[in-house]
Amino acid sequence: IGTLSVTSLTFVHYRYSQISNTAIPYLQSMQIISPKLESIKRLCKDIKTPNNEDRCLFNATLQLRQIQNAITSSTVNLTNNQNYNIFETLTYTLAKDDPIGQQTLQSILEKVKNMDNLIATQKTDIWQELNKNAEDTKTIIDDFSKRTNTQLQEYSTQINDAIKYAINSIAIVFFIAITLLWFFTRWLTEAFSRPIESMIHQIHSIGTGEVDLNKKLKIKSEDEIGALSQEFNKLVDTVYGVTVFKKVIEEDTTLAAVYGRLADVFENESGIEDFRIFDVNLPKEQMSIVQPPLATEEGMMCHAEILNDCSLCRAQKTAHKISSLEYEGVCRQFINSTGKEHVCIPLIVTGQPGAIAQFIFDKKQCDEDVEKINEKVFKAESYIKNSLSVIETKQLMHTLRESSLVDGLTGLYNRRFLQDHSNQIIAGVLRRKKQISLLMCDMDFFKQVNDEHGHDIGDSVLKDTSRVLRESVRDADVVIRFGGEEFIILLVDTEPDYGIKVAEKIRENIEKTKFKSSKAGALKKTISMGVSEFPKDTNGFWQAIKYADVALYNAKDNGRNRCVRFEKSMWEESGNF
Ligand code: GH3
Ligand code: MG
Ligand code: MG
Repeated sequence: IGTLSVTSLTFVHYRYSQISNTAIPYLQSMQIISPKLESIKRLCKDIKTPNNEDRCLFNATLQLRQIQNAITSSTVNLTNNQNYNIFETLTYTLAKDDPIGQQTLQSILEKVKNMDNLIATQKTDIWQELNKNAEDTKTIIDDFSKRTNTQLQEYSTQINDAIKYAINSIAIVFFIAITLLWFFTRWLTEAFSRPIESMIHQIHSIGTGEVDLNKKLKIKSEDEIGALSQEFNKLVDTVYGVTVFKKVIEEDTTLAAVYGRLADVFENESGIEDFRIFDVNLPKEQMSIVQPPLATEEGMMCHAEILNDCSLCRAQKTAHKISSLEYEGVCRQFINSTGKEHVCIPLIVTGQPGAIAQFIFDKKQCDEDVEKINEKVFKAESYIKNSLSVIETKQLMHTLRESSLVDGLTGLYNRRFLQDHSNQIIAGVLRRKKQISLLMCDMDFFKQVNDEHGHDIGDSVLKDTSRVLRESVRDADVVIRFGGEEFIILLVDTEPDYGIKVAEKIRENIEKTKFKSSKAGALKKTISMGVSEFPKDTNGFWQAIKYADVALYNAKDNGRNRCVRFEKSMWEESGNF
């Protein structure tokens, strides 16, 4: 619009200055000269009248003088009361770009000079020539006036056209500009509103727990909106990951499986390569490494004492996140000389740290880009936070299950444990092509203990017996309180005939044990055992237990305080076929 206005106004100004500086002065000067030439022509006719010659001559001279004055002296008042020498001004200034005008003016000047010269000769026969000159000059002036008028009209039309053209163009440009502005505004609004609408939709989905990854924001620009979309997509990814993660771990059956999943997301989603998950056993005040699966005490970044006394672990003790990135050397248990940094996050379940997640980073890496490290930890933390409720439930279930499978008095597994886990134990042994030795144990004359020393002493004898049994076998072996003062021991992965040897050792250990008594001196007790082998004696596990029981009765029958290896004949003797 600006360019058009300037162009058209410049053109209008140019034409207007041509009109005011050339055409109008031309016409004005013609208007002055024309009547004077008419006068001269009239005088030339009047000369024929008698005694008029002198007056005519005088008048013609006067007219010519006036024309001449107009031509050569500065007497003609053209505009603004300023005196101009018409022809000089017109010829040399105004008409300098107008050769025809200049030529015309020159010829007028010549004609006038001619006429003046004629009068100056003072001859009597000049009138005819003077008349001719005046007529010629008049014709020139009329033609020139006509030409100037035409030119004036042409210029006016051009000015009109230019103004019209400018107005039209400005209107069109204005319309185009408004249309473009409208489209641009729409585009701009959409560019802002579309990602924001998608964000609202996604936020709504997150709110209802239904994150739709197909409706991720499309990143089209590299501006702030693009950056916002990118960050939002990352957030949606994390939320989606965390939501899916939570659903998955809810379906996991064991706490170990949940820790395994946590380890996976630390590694794959958060990008943390070096980490440990410690399970905290608060009643025993112990910690154990549960993840990564192959992690050992030796590879720990902390002093090993924390495993036996979990209160030494600062994250466990304070139940707060402990980060050496925030405060160097914050935890004394962390081995500082390794050039590593640590972030330890307690997993708070039922108000206490149920586990500790420890993330380890290279010091160098942290110095280079601590923001990235913090981002990794933040992501891992969001997974931890979302897993807490599940871990709490699993821990509770685990405790409940444990308590229903463990005997309260002795701390040994109970009969229910055997019912629940026998298949698992059998499968393992058969897979390894080994066998189980079954040791069915029953205290001898236990009733007497209760009768003579009371039930409390009876209970304490049972506890001590359990301890002796436990200590007499390997950790992998399973000791079960089968009921009352009966125990069953599963020696797993044994060789044939190994069971009877272990049974004998146990019998001796019990015999040697000094139990607490209500009277002076220690109480001595003995135990009888029946031994069978699975699957050597029978392919049925519960049948093997029955065989061990038959052997036990055999031991009782044969005087007690002895171990008897089951034999097929015993089964038949006991009335079973
Ligand atoms: P035997 O040598 O024939 O086995 O003689 P016994 O006295 O041990 O006989 P039996 O096995 O039949 O008796 C088991 C007794 O153990 C019965 C019960 O009073 C006692 N008993 C069972 N459970 C407990 C317990 O939890 N605490 C105590 N104090 N006594 C128990
Ligand atoms: Mg008994
Ligand atoms: Mg008994």
